[in-house]
Amino acid sequence: MRKIEKRAIMCLMLAGVLVIGLGIFTYRYIADGSDWAVYTANKQIYNDKGRLKRGTLYDRNGTLLMSNTSGKMTFSDDYATRKANVHLTGDRSGNINTGANKVFANKLAGYNHLTGTYSLLGEGRNVNLSIDSDICVTANEALGDRRGTVGVYNYKTGEIICLVSSPNYDPEDPPENPDDESGIYMNRFFSSTFTPGSIFKLVTAAASIENKSDYASWEYTCTGSQNYDDGRVTCQDAHGTVNLEQALADSCNCYFGELARQLGSDLMKEYVEKTGLTLSRDVNGISTARGSFDFPQTGADLAWAGIGQHNDLVNPCTMMTYMGAIANGGRAVQPKILHSVDFSTGFPASIPWKWWTKRMIEEDTAEILKNLMRNNVEDNYGTDNFPGLNICAKSGTAEVQKSERPNAWFAGFLDDDDHPYAFIVLVEKGGYGSDVAGSVANEVLQEIVEKY
Ligand SMILES: [Zn+2]
Repeated sequence: MRKIEKRAIMCLMLAGVLVIGLGIFTYRYIADGSDWAVYTANKQIYNDKGRLKRGTLYDRNGTLLMSNTSGKMTFSDDYATRKANVHLTGDRSGNINTGANKVFANKLAGYNHLTGTYSLLGEGRNVNLSIDSDICVTANEALGDRRGTVGVYNYKTGEIICLVSSPNYDPEDPPENPDDESGIYMNRFFSSTFTPGSIFKLVTAAASIENKSDYASWEYTCTGSQNYDDGRVTCQDAHGTVNLEQALADSCNCYFGELARQLGSDLMKEYVEKTGLTLSRDVNGISTARGSFDFPQTGADLAWAGIGQHNDLVNPCTMMTYMGAIANGGRAVQPKILHSVDFSTGFPASIPWKWWTKRMIEEDTAEILKNLMRNNVEDNYGTDNFPGLNICAKSGTAEVQKSERPNAWFAGFLDDDDHPYAFIVLVEKGGYGSDVAGSVANEVLQEIVEKY
């Protein structure tokens, strides 16, 4: 009897291992199956040179961006469209990591869990991005020769409607020996981090609103500089006695430096994590670069860290998502770049999803920040510079190197149910935030509002 009992237990254990193994396989098959199938050795979808043979990429309006025909990438006929969208289409040499043939290879090839990459007609899928390629051209031309990035997304649906990273180039005529410093292959919107400068003051303001009972009435007298034991914080001008609203509109460094010092290093750390700025976000399989911060316990460095300088680094896409959270009452819709995937016959091949982020800001705080950001425009940036737009924003002028012009930022959203767009603009070495980056934002947003 004991022998039988032992054997039965053994059988049960083996059956258990089998079930666990099957579970792991099924999970991995669903999670990673497409990666296994789109391995370049798969001759069904790749040619001998490892080039994808199938699939076509369009923008949201059906404008052709790129097509794989017989293992050769072909692009739009229009030079400006090719150049503005190269960080999304990718290039023939595969230098661009966010290019469609890398990140959407499984979708272009028509992979599914049942038949894998087999297709009766040997055809790939039509992948429709959420961007409007004409608006990307406008954004790219507004950046001109300057380096930087522009991102705009619908904060109700999550769809990115405009995404440009500069410098860029025509994939039909790639540069032979690009300057290493330029980062021409880098999609700055997803893959880079930058010193945020004053746009970060929104996070310090949120921490103050949620933790300082006298946040609205607390005042500070700015004389143009504030000395600490280990250094000093300076402003462009002496702003005089300012409260939170005035300090944000004037972007007073001394106020926010002192505020960060009062809130303390631990609370500031907690807030950058809460706002998701240190996370890597997944945008349809593209992972955004993680931001990083360092809040020393005391002194001028803690003050500068609360102003968006010191060692602060943010990713533009993540910062845009934070703007979406402020606009949406504290939680953001996760940005996405895919609009839809269709069979070559035009039938939909996937269901669009919408994901929400965790709460980044309390609902009341989001409302207060929205009003403060509207006040920034009315009081400082000028409503005339954004005709017809109910824009809420914060500018930033981030010092990167003492000898160089600062990076100009402009971040915010339209408080408009018919045009729910959040945006981020960065012009590297552009100069002053609201003048330079604000005018790029206006040009792009005007076209979006007119068209949609
Ligand atoms: Zn000041």
